Formats: sequence, C-alpha cells, structure tokens
Amino acid sequence: MTAERRNARPASLPIRIVRARTNNLKDVTLDIPKHRIVVFTGVSGSGKSSLVFDTIAAESQKQLNETYSSFVRNRLPHYGQPEADGLYHLPASIVVDQKRLGGNARSTVGTATDIYALLRLLFSRIGEPHVGESSVFSFNHPQGMCLDCQGLGNVDSIDVDSLVDWSKSLNEGPLRFPAFGVGSARWKRYALTGFFDNDKKLGKYTAAERHRLLHEDGTPVTHPLPGWYASTKYEGLIPRFKRSYLERELEELSKPERDALSRIVRREPCPACGGGRLNARILACRVRGKNIADCAAMEVGDLRDFVRSLDVPEVATVVSAMADRLHHMVNIGLDYLALDRETASLSGGESQRVKMVRHLGSSLSDIAYIFDEPSIGLHPRDVHQLTDLLTRLRDNGNTVLVVEHDPDVIAIADHVIDIGPNAGADGGRIVFEGSVDALATASTTTARALAKPRALKTRPRHASGYLQIENASMFNVSNVSVRIPLGVITVVVGVAGSGKSTLVHRILPRLHPNVVRIDQSALGGSRRSTPATYIGILDPIRDRFAAASGLPAGLFSTNSLGACPECRGIGLVRTDLAFMDAIEAPCETCDATGFSDQARSFRLDGSSIADVMKMTIPAAKDFFASDEAIRAPLERLERVGLDYMTLGQQLSSLSGGERQRLKLATELARTGRIYLFDEPTSGLHIADIEKLLRLFDELVARGDSVLIVEHNLDVMAHADWIIEMGPGAGHRGGQIVFEGTPSDLTKATSSITGPFLRKHVG
Ligand code: ADP
Ligand code: ADP
Ligand code: ZN
Ligand code: ZN
Repeated sequence: MTAERRNARPASLPIRIVRARTNNLKDVTLDIPKHRIVVFTGVSGSGKSSLVFDTIAAESQKQLNETYSSFVRNRLPHYGQPEADGLYHLPASIVVDQKRLGGNARSTVGTATDIYALLRLLFSRIGEPHVGESSVFSFNHPQGMCLDCQGLGNVDSIDVDSLVDWSKSLNEGPLRFPAFGVGSARWKRYALTGFFDNDKKLGKYTAAERHRLLHEDGTPVTHPLPGWYASTKYEGLIPRFKRSYLERELEELSKPERDALSRIVRREPCPACGGGRLNARILACRVRGKNIADCAAMEVGDLRDFVRSLDVPEVATVVSAMADRLHHMVNIGLDYLALDRETASLSGGESQRVKMVRHLGSSLSDIAYIFDEPSIGLHPRDVHQLTDLLTRLRDNGNTVLVVEHDPDVIAIADHVIDIGPNAGADGGRIVFEGSVDALATASTTTARALAKPRALKTRPRHASGYLQIENASMFNVSNVSVRIPLGVITVVVGVAGSGKSTLVHRILPRLHPNVVRIDQSALGGSRRSTPATYIGILDPIRDRFAAASGLPAGLFSTNSLGACPECRGIGLVRTDLAFMDAIEAPCETCDATGFSDQARSFRLDGSSIADVMKMTIPAAKDFFASDEAIRAPLERLERVGLDYMTLGQQLSSLSGGERQRLKLATELARTGRIYLFDEPTSGLHIADIEKLLRLFDELVARGDSVLIVEHNLDVMAHADWIIEMGPGAGHRGGQIVFEGTPSDLTKATSSITGPFLRKHVG
C-alpha cells in the first residue's frame, strides 16, 4: 500500500475492490474508473447499496475517521464494517443521501445550505440602520434572537378548553391529562387547597376562582384540607403546565404525556417577532425595504432575483456567492423553498437536494460523491438539471457514483455497473459493466426492462364513486376543489413543490377517515424485530415447534428462554475498546443466530428454529405449506415483491421502499380502503415497478382505491385517472391544471407532464 502510494498517482488509478462480501455480495472483484459518472443499476435487493454504501463509502469514511483523534472520532457518524479482501485507491467520499436533515427546530434550509450566513453578512454590511456584526443577525445569538420565542419563531400555549372539562367539578376529574385523575398527587394540589368547592362545576366558578385555578402562582395556602402536604406551594394550571411540560425537552416526557400534550398545546407564530425569530432591533435593519426575516421567507427563486438586483460594490463578493448558491437551488428544482423552512419538514428527496447545494459550490476535486437515487421527487422536466449538475461535479475532477433507476440518469453514465441477476441470495454479482451503449445489447434484467416498449393502458377503468374535496387551502394550495375517483388507480402528478403532497397527504386525510397512508417511514420495534415479527407469524411458528417438541414456546424465542446467553439473542457481540471504536462481531457461541444450543438442537422436519429464520420467503412458504396462519402472510410478502428477504433479517436493514412494501403487505389482509402512496417506485428497478403495478391492480380489483403521488412515467401510463397540480412550484403552483385519463393527458395543452408521457409511450 505504502509503496504504491509513493510510485503512482493514486488519483488516476481505478478504485479496486477485491472479493467484497458485505451482505449478499458474492466475492465481488471490480475496478471502478475515477473521474467518471458511474451508475449502479439492478433490481431492488440485488446488492447496489451493499457495494456502494456499505462497502465503498463505509471503508472510505472509516479510513478518514481513523486519521482523527478518538475524541473527534466518537463524534463522527459510525459505519458498519465492510467485508472484503482488499479495497484500494479509495478517494475521500461524500455521501449525499436521502436521510432527513436534523430534526432540530433551529435547523432551516438557510442554515443547512450556509446561505443564511451570507445573508447575515450582507445585512451587517449594508443594512440600515447599521446594527452590528453579522453574528447578531442569527436567531441563535442572544443579542439577535427574539426573547419571547427564544429564536424559534413560534410559541406554544396551553389551550385551556382542551385541558379543562368545564362541565365537571374537581371531584369529577376535569383535567384531561395523564396522572391528574381524581385522588392522584397532582390532583390533590388543587382539590386539597381549600380554595375551591370540590363539587362545583368548573364552568360555574367566579372570575376570581377561575383566575386562581388557571393563573395564580405561589398564593399561600392558609386553610388546606387534611392530606395537604404542608410545604407545597400553590401553582395554577397554566404556570404548572408551562413549567412541567412546555419548558422541558420532549424527550424527557413519556409517550402518553407527549400525546396528551399535543392535544392541549397550540403552536402559533410568535406575536413579538411575527415568526421572524429575531428581536425588534434586528428586524428594524433593512436592505431595500426588506428585513432579514422578510428575505428568509421569500422563495429562493425570488430571493436570488432580489440579491442580484443589489448593485453595491462593497458587497459584490457576498452577493455573487449568495446568488450562486441560490441559483444552484433553483437549478435542482428547489426554487419554491424558502430559507426559513425548517429542514425537519422536508421530504427525503428535498433533503438530498438541499445537501447537494453545499457541495456544488465546493472547489474540492478528487472527491467521490455518492448519490442514492437523486432523481427522487423530481419531475421528468427537471431531471436534466440534475444530470447537468452531476456532469459538472465530474468535470470539476471528481468521481460521481450514483445508485439510480431512472433511464434519463442512466443515460448520462460514462460507465454502468449492473448488479444481479436477482435479489438477496440470488443477487450480489456483477452481471454487466460497460458503457450505456453496450448495456443496450446486454441480456440482463436491466437491459431488457430498458428496451421494453411502453404503452398506455388501452381501457382505463371507470370510477365506482367519488371523494369530493371542496375549496381546500393549505400552504400553497389555495381554494382547490377536485374529485378523487374511487375504485380505480389515480396518479397525482406535477413539478416538485406544486402541492401534490399537501393535497394528498395533508388535506385528504383530514376530510376522509377511511384513507390509509403507506409511506416509507421507520417501522418501529427493537433490534430483534424481523419480517417474521412484523407480519405476525413468529408466534404460530413457535407454537408449531413447541407442539412438536413438547417444550415451552418461549424456548424458541431469542427474546425469551431461547436467547443465546453470550449475545442475549442479538447474534452479535460488542467489544468496547478503550481508545477505538467499539467493534461488533458475529457471536460465535450461537453462530450469529441469537438462539441457545438447546433451542437449536430441536428439529422440526429437519430444520431448527434458527434454520427457519434463515429461510427466504418462498422456502418458508414451502416449509409451512399446510399451515394457513403462516403461509397466508408469507404469500402477501411475495405479492409485494419482498420474497428475497429472510424471516429473521433485521428490520433496520430495510430500505425506505422495502419498508413501504412491508407495510402494504400487512394491509393486504383488509379491504375497502383508500390507499395513499408517496412515490412508491423509489428504490424500485424498472422490472420491480411492473410487479408493483400488478399489486395496485389487485387492490383495485377487490374494491380498494389507489391514489399515488408519482413522477414515474410507467406508473402514469398505467393509471386510470390523472390529476395534475401546478402550473409551477410554491406560490406559482397549488392549482389543479388537469384532470382526465392518461390518454387525454398526452394531448392536454395545459399540462407540463403530457409531452413527457407522450414521448415515453410514443
Ligand atoms: P439494493 O441496494 O440493490 O436494493 P441492498 O444492497 O440493499 O440491495 O441489499 C442486498 C441484500 O442484502 C438484500 O437481500 C438485503 O435484504 C440484504 N441486506 C442489506 N442490508 C443488510 C444488513 N444490514 N444485514 C443483512 N442483510 C442485509
Ligand atoms: P409537492 O408534493 O408537489 O412536491 P408540497 O405539497 O410538498 O409539493 O409543497 C407545496 C408547497 O407547500 C411548497 O411551496 C412547499 O414549500 C410548501 N410546504 C410543504 N410543506 C410545508 C411545511 N411543512 N411548512 C411550510 N411549507 C410547506
Ligand atoms: Zn419571537
Ligand atoms: Zn449468541
């Protein structure tokens, strides 16, 4: 390694991977050219992430982290241990993925992109009246923040009518909050003061009594009832709830407390700063009539035009740096966002693009940028802007590695690496590597799927009824009325930020309780959660083992009697090293199965419980063929295309798309629903999309309705009905611009999407 470093120019040598075995990879040996756009394709579960993220990125980050002190290292993100015989000539890598940006209320689009720092600089230089240096324009700075809201822009207040049931007396338990019930210690702090008639309805209290109950603080309790704890101070409900709940971190509260709190707390823009997060002195400082909060509230496209119009020589460099970054945002389809938008409210695709902005201005070269389906959330119209940006990164001397299914992104690859042939144990091999042209004549699943001709559905189904949305408004959606057909597949299309999610995921569920949202969010559960636990077949499986062996069912559980004593059922042992990262290694006692020797020694038809947990879905289905309670849920997993999973795989290893399909699998047992999907094709190979469409057909055939927010043209072509939102994003969108069949869409003049669909099926 050292010798090579000395003799050669490492940057020009390809990344060399020798016998990589991470997850399902089958001793993959591979050279990846540097300074190229390399696209990784293959069906979902084939091993793309295992190679790109869990092997290349993980090793690169690990080596980089090892150059830091252990103090720094403990604060850096931790990556798993890649398994390979060798990994050579790795560049430093930057992973730009879809993980949501921090959930902190002080993280905004402006702070995450560093554009807000430039805006502060601008105001400190040319704002009038002049107030001070740039740091005071920060809502995190004590001299800058609005003190009423601590720089958060909104204030929480107790909604008294939700907390208090005025029709009840203290003896009837009027407080709707956990642990304030009649007889509880907290209830006694009101009922035993002697201040109130405990049988009088709270609604009948005099103004003075009501004020005392709600607002007084520290009033001496002179004639308490028996049982009053003498040193207790009186504290009215509002100060009590502020102190105990509002002023504490949410993490300190129990789940029931948090849920109850969400019902009694009202969040409103802070009256002092109007949501601007800054104090009056800072907000008085203006540039061309606008204060810094006004600028942060503008959509970035408008803000870019505003800063470009500032023709002030002393801030020319700040202005051009800002305009550049804002322009990048517009370029990747984020023109509708404002700098003051909290990052926690962004979707995965939006988060990925916001992260991208930080890197586009960078002049670093010889970096490997690693993207995870960057086309997610982008309208076909905007995909070429994304591909332009990837091209620019390469032309700046970087290596660009992209996991992607979108044919328009695959088309710009200098080099394609196709992984397969199938998913899970049947995948993990390189089935093709070469140019896009060579891929066209290859005989892999990807090549065949790309070459397949597309057509519109010839006979769209007719609606069995309609859901009506009338005069709905929220965010940019204003006064919209639209009919959602039932019993068919409806696809909602439109550019990013046009209002699709607002309509489908926010407005619709409020109006109609019968809708079920199937999203990609986390599944919950513990480290021991597996597909088997999630679909509810673990108990019947244990019962079978118990019945056949005459042993207790708990013996066949890693959560109970059957747990390996060494790793306590996890299958991994963790070794803490004083000055280095803790190491997790497979547990040797139980062969990484998590089960004790006793649990593994019993065999049902030749297989131990540990063997069963290693089975893929089809194998398990065969094994339990005569057992309806186990077979039926497994069949549902097959129907959603998750047949490559094993029963005992950790749920935390699933991708967002896999989580979405797993949730759908459990839903398949019910009927009569309206299913809402948010880009269900994300993470799906073109060949997998066909399976998903058949599943949607199946839902509709049994009477369900399917409503999908999607940019994927294959899904649009398969729809019975299309609703397009637009015409643009943000305040330029929020309207319905088209309703009709896909075939009508291809002819519609009002539609941005129509021409793309026409070309796709043409
Ligand atoms: P892709 O990125 O092509 O969709 P992945 O690399 O995510 O595929 O997955 C390849 C295989 O490895 C799948 O069978 C998947 O279930 C499995 N897998 C992925 N991550 C883990 C993990 N952390 N532990 C065990 N198996 C995993
Ligand atoms: P789409 O789903 O079509 O991409 P969205 O419905 O997510 O569009 O967004 C429509 C508009 O509403 C955009 O201007 C967006 O910035 C705004 N918006 C969406 N979510 C929020 C939120 N949580 N807070 C403030 N504005 C939001
Ligand atoms: Zn405020
Ligand atoms: Zn063990």
